[in-house]
Order: sequence, then structure tokens, then C-alpha cells
Amino acid sequence: MRLQVVGKTDIGSVREENQDALGEVRLDEESAFLVVADGMGGYAGGSLAARLAVETLLEYVKSSWTGKKDPRSLLREAVAEANARVRERAMHTEGLADMGTTCVCALVSGSRCYLAHVGDSRAYLFRRGLFTLLTEDHTVIQQLINQGKVKPQEASYHPSAGILMRCLGQLESVEPDVSGPIELQEGDRLLLCSDGLTGMVYEDEIAEVLKGRDMAQVVEELVRMANEAGGFDNITVQILQAGTFPEDAATWPVIVDSPEGIALMAAEGRLPKDPEELGHLRHTRVLEVVREPAVESEETVPADLPEWDPGRERFYKLLVTAAVAALLAGGLVYFLVR
Ligand code: CA
Repeated sequence: MRLQVVGKTDIGSVREENQDALGEVRLDEESAFLVVADGMGGYAGGSLAARLAVETLLEYVKSSWTGKKDPRSLLREAVAEANARVRERAMHTEGLADMGTTCVCALVSGSRCYLAHVGDSRAYLFRRGLFTLLTEDHTVIQQLINQGKVKPQEASYHPSAGILMRCLGQLESVEPDVSGPIELQEGDRLLLCSDGLTGMVYEDEIAEVLKGRDMAQVVEELVRMANEAGGFDNITVQILQAGTFPEDAATWPVIVDSPEGIALMAAEGRLPKDPEELGHLRHTRVLEVVREPAVESEETVPADLPEWDPGRERFYKLLVTAAVAALLAGGLVYFLVR
């Protein structure tokens, strides 16, 4: 499948510096790696952290890519390397001790897409009008939502909005959320973005724009909308399109598949249904999309497989043997009695 990538970063309307960064690298004819990072920590620190992370991730993935390794392991290693590089610079440079960055990365190989992220930069899948959030923010507010202490629609107004639970460059090790493969279909679009977009523009409005045919125009329009809404933060969007974009996109109804988006729309009376119910639906759907069966590759074993237990296997074999013996004996008895 042909992969097209278009991205843009913009300083926004308020900040004095753009601390977001983005990058993309082609790995082979049908594989690409893309990343968006959102830096933080003092003047110059944030932009340096984001650029350093993007640089490191691109370099690492490009130089380690063989097409054979489990992409999820590769993503984990790349994120660890980026974390180490940013942290090293932060520790050894005057005034940069508190710099850090988020990252959201996608590795697409053929029709398979793998994701890794740390922080609150997000990945969405846009498929025939269905706009699905694929990542869960590593933020205090997300944790409060998960614990049922804050409603999703209150998230953006909450005092702890924007406080990260995880980022690159601050601790010796960081655990990214890694997922995939998601099986991409012809015409699918993957959106990676910083919170300068999602904090300013409703998800259903983002999805509406994604119906546009011209990717460069879509990217421009998203940045324009974030700025028009206030542009309080740096804005970064990067879109990957798999194959050819369908002709009938303009007719697609938009369905937002994200708890925050659904709750917001419901709170504003833009949804006819009970948000609780939709939230539940959404959750199961995302799980289906993100946690599809692991790659059937021969060379790698998923890390989360239960350990082989010879004792247990013997027990099952014994059980099957006993069952077969019982059946045979039963048949014999039946035959004799008859
Ligand atoms: Ca930001």
C-alpha cells in the first residue's frame, strides 16, 4: 500500500517559541516511521528536548530497521534511547535540568501500524468517518477520569489539566504504551498531533476536516482552526494516508470514538444518546482496534505470552488420554451388553 505523509508544526498565537517537533523517515518501499513531540521546560529547553527526541527516534528506527524484528520491541528500544539522550543532555547542561518531552510515534509497515507514546500527544485513526482515539494520555487528569473522579467533559477546565504523568528526559527509564498491529485499510488516515490541536479543536471538527481530499490542505486547515480557537499552545499535526483516499469521503457521517469527544458533544447537546452508553461502546471498540491479535511472525515471541508449563501440559495430555479411554471403555461395555 502506498503511504503518504504530510505534517506541519506551528508556533500558535500566544507562545513565543515553538517547543513542538515532528519528523518522518522512510524505512523501505512500504514502511514509514513518523513522530510528533511536544517539549517542555524553560526557554530553549523544551524545543531542544523535542528536537533531540525526534532526531534520536528517527535515527534509531532507521538504523535498526530490518523488517524482521518485532516492531513493538523496536519502538520500545527507540523510546528508551530517546529518553536517555534527552536526559543526558538535561543533566549536563546548565539551565536545562527540567526539560522533557512527550512523543507519539507510528511505525507503519505494509498495512500494519504500530504505535508508541509517552505523555499527552495523541494518535487517532480516521476510517470512513469514524475517528478513533488510539492512545490514552499519560496525564494526571486522565488518571482522575479513569478513577471516576473527574468527568471527561470537565478535563480541559480542571486545575490539573496538562500535568503529565510520564515524559521523556526526566527519569532514568520510561515505559511507553506500545500497541499494534492495527490493520490499515485502503484510504485510512492516521493522525499524530500535539495537545495544541486537541486542546483547541473538538474531535468531531477535526474529523470533519479529515474528510478533505488534499492532505496538505487538511493539515493547513487543522492548524488554522487551532489558531482561530485561540492558539494558546504550539500546534503540530502529522497525517499518514494508506493507499488512495476514497472518492465518496464528503458523504461520510462523522462518528467520534473517544471518551472526551463523546462526553463534550453530549454535554453540549450535540449528541442524542446517553454519554455513558456511548463511552462504554467506545471503549470496547478501541480495544478491538488496538489490541488485535499479535503478529503471526515466526521470528519473534510476544513478551506477554504466559510461560510454558510442562506440568500443566502433561496434566492436559493425561486428561485427554483418560477421556478417550473412558469413551472406548464405554463403547465396549455398550457393545457387550447389547
Ligand atoms: Ca503542548
